[in-house]
Amino acid sequence: MTIPVKDAMVRCYNTEPTCRVEREWPQEVLTGKGNWHIKWPSVIVRHATDFVQKQTVDLNHTTLFYREEGKCAYCREYTVNGTKDHVIPTSKGGPNDWTNVVWACKDCNTRKANKMPKGMWKPKVPVFKPTYWELLKNRKKFPLYIQTEDWLPYVEWLDWEGDVIITMKKHLDIGPNVV
Ligand SMILES: [Zn+2]
Repeated sequence: MTIPVKDAMVRCYNTEPTCRVEREWPQEVLTGKGNWHIKWPSVIVRHATDFVQKQTVDLNHTTLFYREEGKCAYCREYTVNGTKDHVIPTSKGGPNDWTNVVWACKDCNTRKANKMPKGMWKPKVPVFKPTYWELLKNRKKFPLYIQTEDWLPYVEWLDWEGDVIITMKKHLDIGPNVV
């Protein structure tokens, strides 16, 4: 998945780097106390070792959306404004982990409230902890937003099924702090 650009920069320049800068913007960026000039990276590559360690999948709003491909576990309607629903309510001892949560539209979540998973409130999808690869397979069905065409060579080998959308075309569109 993604990490904030600030984290990526730290990973490139700390004493044991786990990322490297692959391509750069032409502009220099002023950092730290003002005596350290670097170019702002347009493509950062994570080292393979770092990548392997990160293959567990955190449970959050976004990852849950992709496990279910955005469809409510009860009525099966697609919604981007869904919620995390606890299959066995937390008030009845249900854990807050992958094996007890589903993506639910607001309407179903409200109606289910703290009912147990019986009848219509039994999820119509498997409730499981996905692997990184299972989640990525689903993620690829949705649009991928990349900042610039610089990223296209790195996206090609991903076999992305959804649209690849470039959000920023000109180098000069980039950032503040340009020297
Ligand atoms: Zn629903």
